[in-house]
Parts: sequence; C-alpha cells; structure tokens
Amino acid sequence: MLDIAILPAFNDNYIYLLREPETSKVAVVDPGTADPVLTALEARGWPLDMILLTHHHADHVGGVDTLKERFGAEVVGPAADANRISGLDRGVGEGDEVPFGAESALVYETHGHTRGHIAFWFPGSTALFSGDTLFALGCGRLFEGTPAEMWASLQKLRGLPDDARVYCGHEYTESNARFAVTVEPENEALAERAAQVRADRSQGRPTVPSLLGLEKRTNPFLRADVPEVQAALGKPGADPVAVFADIRARKDSF
Ligand code: ZN
Ligand code: FE
Repeated sequence: MLDIAILPAFNDNYIYLLREPETSKVAVVDPGTADPVLTALEARGWPLDMILLTHHHADHVGGVDTLKERFGAEVVGPAADANRISGLDRGVGEGDEVPFGAESALVYETHGHTRGHIAFWFPGSTALFSGDTLFALGCGRLFEGTPAEMWASLQKLRGLPDDARVYCGHEYTESNARFAVTVEPENEALAERAAQVRADRSQGRPTVPSLLGLEKRTNPFLRADVPEVQAALGKPGADPVAVFADIRARKDSF
C-alpha cells in the first residue's frame, strides 16, 4: 500500500506525496508549487522519483520545473497536453499503465475540465487521483469540454469500486455540500455528509480522501441519471447529459 501524505498549497489546492514502501520510490501528484513538496521531502529525508500531472493548469504544474531540476524526477502527464506542459517526459493516455515501484497506476482520460485531463488509479492501494475532474461532492468547471465529455469522464470514474479513495485537486467540499443539498434536499446520506463536512472544516481537517461509494450516493454530479435527482430537478426520464449540464450550470451561478 502506498503511503500518501496530503500537502495543502495555495488557498485550497492539495498536492499529494506518495511513497511505495517496498521500493522506497517517491512521487508527487500535481505540485502546483515546489515549496511544500521540498519541505515535506526534507522532513522525511526522501528523494523524488516521479511527478504525476493530471492537467496543465498552473495551480497543478507550477512546481514541476523546480522539482525536476532538483531531483531529476520523471514527469508523467497527459500526452494530449505535451505542447503546454513544460518538462513532460512521458505523455500518457487512456489505458496506459505507469509503473511505480511495486505498484502501478492506470490512466483514465477524463476530459471536460480541460481537453487533456487525466486521472490516475492505483488499484493496489485503491487510490484515485482525480485532479479537477471529480471533487468531493463536486466536479470541475467545464473550461475546455462539453457536458457530454465531462459526464462520460465522471461515469468512467464512477465505475471504480466503492472503496476507492478519492484524492482530488482542491478542498472545495464545504461549498460543494452547500450546493448539493439544494439539488437533493431529501437525500439523507447527503445531509449527514454535509454536516460531517462542516464539522471537519470547522476543525481545519481535510475532507479528502473521500470514498467513491459515498460520492456515488451523495455527489449530484455523479447522479444525473438517478431517478430521484432527475425528479428533484423536474426532469424525470431526461437524457443524463442534459441533467448533468443543468446541475453544472446551476453550480456555476450558485
Ligand atoms: Zn484545473
Ligand atoms: Fe485546479
């Protein structure tokens, strides 16, 4: 099982530090800035072997050059964004496997937030690094993709097991929860989760990782094809893409 440390960065970003204990390989996911990564590595006396990137946005790649220069770490990210990620060593896409010590990550293309966005799934550790595609109780904004693309991406991730731990790119959960209860005021699992999220945040605790099974029951963006959600939005039997688009548009102006 991977050791996974959560490194907060900027206002609400999360950078993840991964260590594979059998081989002592170390990787970082989406280092938007190098400083917290350098501090964490120094404190542990670890090198850095690999940098995994979900997408090209500055708050996810800003620390790459510094870390690569310092450690010679291999930079792995979306092949589709090779022309806009500086320092990319290995471009990957749907179905590619990224060996990491005794484990390996499976790559899913999850376009929608950006046209090259990918997610990394480590089946050996039931850990999903979902970047800005799937958030706890939310999903990323559609900067470069259509609702159909994002819905397809979310369905891919929804297909992973319930015990998958979702490590997402931002701590947006409290505001996502405030929105989610407006979509599904009758969802008891959601109401319970929203209360838990408020309690966690008031103590400064991260709400990640979340369990995918709980996301399936409470995240409105994964539930556009669920009859209760469609009914709550006055769209019974509608095309899930249209329902998803409606939920996303409501959140954009929430
Ligand atoms: Zn982003
Ligand atoms: Fe981001």
